Amino acid sequence: MRVIRYLALVAASLIAAQIQAQSQTNPTAELLRELIRIDTSNPPGNEGALAEFLQPRFEALGFEVSIVETPAEGKAHFIARLRGDGSKRPLLLAAHADVVGVERELWTQEPFAGDIVDGYVYGRGAIDFKGGLAVFAEAVMQLARNDVPLARDVIFLAEADEEGGSYGTGWLARDHWPLIDAEFALNEGGWIIKRQGSDDVRYVSISTADKFMLSLRITASGHSIHSSMPRPDNAIFALARALDKLSEYDGGVQFIPITRQFFETLALTAEEPEKTWLKDFVAGTDAARVAQADRQIGADPLMRAFTRNTIAPVILEAGFRINVIPGTATALVNFRLIPGTDVAAFIEEIRRVTADPAISVEILTNDSQEAALASLQERSRQMPSPEDTELYQALAASARVQYPEALVTSYLFQAGTDAGAWRNRGVPVYGIYPYPIDQDDLSRMHGNDERVPVQSLAEGTEMIYRVLVDVAAAN
Ligand SMILES: [Zn+2]
Repeated sequence: MRVIRYLALVAASLIAAQIQAQSQTNPTAELLRELIRIDTSNPPGNEGALAEFLQPRFEALGFEVSIVETPAEGKAHFIARLRGDGSKRPLLLAAHADVVGVERELWTQEPFAGDIVDGYVYGRGAIDFKGGLAVFAEAVMQLARNDVPLARDVIFLAEADEEGGSYGTGWLARDHWPLIDAEFALNEGGWIIKRQGSDDVRYVSISTADKFMLSLRITASGHSIHSSMPRPDNAIFALARALDKLSEYDGGVQFIPITRQFFETLALTAEEPEKTWLKDFVAGTDAARVAQADRQIGADPLMRAFTRNTIAPVILEAGFRINVIPGTATALVNFRLIPGTDVAAFIEEIRRVTADPAISVEILTNDSQEAALASLQERSRQMPSPEDTELYQALAASARVQYPEALVTSYLFQAGTDAGAWRNRGVPVYGIYPYPIDQDDLSRMHGNDERVPVQSLAEGTEMIYRVLVDVAAAN
């Protein structure tokens, strides 16, 4: 009997917790939960299913919807346009619909259920970037629901193939530019970072540039022979030595104006001893103090990431059976470079670091080495989006209204995004993950038990809605 009563109590408290969780939800969180349930792990992506889910919701509110099918089956871009009076050029909000896959056994929550637990929506894409897709979508749909007269078109885009694949925004821009041409755009990028264990927002960063990606194939050659008679020229050992040298290599701290502004802002919001480290770091006058600051600040992988060109071996290939020593061994190494980096010089540096007659280094590409290098150099020269536009200013102002205690700064996004399609054509793009999160939440992005606070989604929607009215409403 006692057991049954106990179980009944547990069941009652579970139901109570569920009711409470439901009462804490909001329209953006509910939309996000539905989006998470559409599995868009890329590959294959299956973004067309998400487009079909969005279509009736936007059409019912008077948006002009275009679904752009790609040559890959089931893969499509979703574009919804809310018409303005045309006196100003369009504003675009872009969010990728695809997500990275999951290592299911490492999750304690269902990755594709969109469950709410303890005030968080859990699921793949909760932060990157279905959370942002939900915020952007909800904010633009509110414009329509509220019948806000618009001076410019507001375009909402849910993109395919941001996490990989051939039919991302580069492809879309090449063949369908008029659908996504705009004066400026919002995308993923900067962060609204909470102090750990608190709901206080410490800073809001808005990305105006992204790091860019270089992938190198490092190949070691040796002698293929029966594994009973090893020789010194072993490809796997040679590759291991090269990777060991890379693991010891650090090209050092490099500031560009955006990252300098970011660290100066961070210093203003920091407590001792972090405040001193940050000041030493940016001042850059005393090498020993910079090194000390770098050790402390760089302990955070995010901070480390945008102060230097990063190096990450990601795929190894060698060998095919137990009794054969393979003749080659290959590592694919992913580098994230700071804009302005001379890519040719950087690759030469990697060759110098791994120098060994058995080792060759080449750009991982389907193009020729020359063409790949030329396009990387062009990408490296892309200028950050300016901070004096109406959109950047409105976003910064809205962030200050939402979080009066927080400081707002520009930011170099530590990864790549699909903003290049617009920045290449001179369209400014500003990035933000529009919801307050803390370091713990951030560390789950592309990892396990990805989640976003339910309340943060509501705040982000308010913040973005205010930006839309500010920038797009007719006055
Ligand atoms: Zn993303």
